[in-house]
Amino acid sequence: MVQKNLIDGEWIAGGEAFRNINPSDTNDVVGEYARASADDARLAIAAAKAAFPAWSRSGILERHAILRKTADEILARKDELGRLLSREEGKTLAEGIGETVRAGQIFDFFAGECLRLAGEVLPSARPNIGVEITREPVGVVGIITPWNFPIAIPAWKIAPALCYGNTVVFKPAELVPGSSWAIVDILHRAGLPKGVLNLVMGKGSVVGQAMLDSPDIHAITFTGSTGTGKRVALASVEHNRKYQLEMGGKNPFVVLDDADLSVAVEAAVNSAFFSTGQRCTASSRFIVTEGIHDRFVAAMGERMKGLVIDDALKAGTQIGPVVDQSQLNQDTDYIAIGRQEGAKLAFGGELLKRDTPGFYLQPALFTEATNAMRISREEIFGPVASVIRVKDYDEALSVANDTPFGLSSGIATTSLKHATHFKRNAEAGMVMVNLPTAGVDFHVPFGGRKGSSHGSREQGRYAAEFYTTVKTAYTSA
Ligand code: NDP
Repeated sequence: MVQKNLIDGEWIAGGEAFRNINPSDTNDVVGEYARASADDARLAIAAAKAAFPAWSRSGILERHAILRKTADEILARKDELGRLLSREEGKTLAEGIGETVRAGQIFDFFAGECLRLAGEVLPSARPNIGVEITREPVGVVGIITPWNFPIAIPAWKIAPALCYGNTVVFKPAELVPGSSWAIVDILHRAGLPKGVLNLVMGKGSVVGQAMLDSPDIHAITFTGSTGTGKRVALASVEHNRKYQLEMGGKNPFVVLDDADLSVAVEAAVNSAFFSTGQRCTASSRFIVTEGIHDRFVAAMGERMKGLVIDDALKAGTQIGPVVDQSQLNQDTDYIAIGRQEGAKLAFGGELLKRDTPGFYLQPALFTEATNAMRISREEIFGPVASVIRVKDYDEALSVANDTPFGLSSGIATTSLKHATHFKRNAEAGMVMVNLPTAGVDFHVPFGGRKGSSHGSREQGRYAAEFYTTVKTAYTSA
């Protein structure tokens, strides 16, 4: 059965369908999904526009109930949805279930936020005048998501958009339509009025582009590559619309001489290789001071030998496959580039064979890398990391900040002085002390600076900044 797109409250088949393939076993077809056309996208935008006036004035209890019901169903079905996610994306079952729980928590959080939307009342600078500051929805929000968090990223964009009274046109990544289809189905059955949430699965260059080109989309929130992010920005400037971008990272993880070695190694392995290194918050630069360098590299090699790389759904798997052939090519190209640049491939980097045909890659660790190499400057988006040797903390901080990106930045140290200084001076939106660079909570702001992000933060109460517009009203008594 082909899973359809949702436009104006109706499930629409469209002309074409595409297959969702399991990266752990390319013989396994996860499902077939309708491919929306540019015309479908335009119908979806028109439906969202028509639904906006009523939804923007809907009661907070109605919105609360729908988001709450959605949260409850996602959490009740976490094992089944987590399995679907792992099957289509390739992260392990534990990671898939964890991400699904996070999506449920996000809907639960924003169900609560509907009831907490507050404004401000201030005296005017002039006598006998009152000033009220309120937040109103922005209008039709376009949501474009990547493949690496198939349920959490859609959740952290759709939940606040609906909570604050916006209507939505949602285009998930074509590689992973299954999880997106499932949450749209849940929201639809939870009682969303027609046109409030529209799903258009299909090609970015067709469906996504139709969204960028439409004057009827008032805000676009995007997560994905830097290149597509720039297109979103340019088109948004053209239409004078609000936009928010979460793009790449080249996140540093500093290890100081005084670090607890086991804490440093666990955090480094998690940062670089869990979720197959396919996280924008993954670390791919370990910046290590001289006194601990050799012990860190040896301990990393030992720890990496024990990693179980296999089918994402198999019990005991710690690292699943790469998402598809093109991402695998990108990873192996960068491994070749690192060698050509003179870094030493100290561990891994081999293609692996398993019981089923899949995109299996042994996580790779380079040593003797410099921060000028391409493997240290460009986002690889796979399980490939390098070690850069530095003299002391000052040099470590300077190398950590010497990157066009600024999403997440980590340090392993037992020194309060260095941890405090690093938290203040790391040029990143998120800083982690004795923790992996990836792995964040659902109720606090998420986002970066420099080339990693544009616009206000996602998640937590800070999401209101993007999904609402502020009104200042003056009343003469
Ligand atoms: P893209 O930026 O191409 O894709 C992200 C989303 O944008 C997808 O839904 C995609 O659609 C859509 N899109 C593509 N072209 C357009 C367009 N012209 N107009 C509007 N939307 C468009 O990233 P990829 O998924 O291809 O990944 C490529 C690289 O991006 C990765 O190797 C990685 O380096 C980086 N990346 C970073 C992420 C992050 O979280 N920072 C997440 C994912 C990727 P479609 O379904 O057709 O792909």
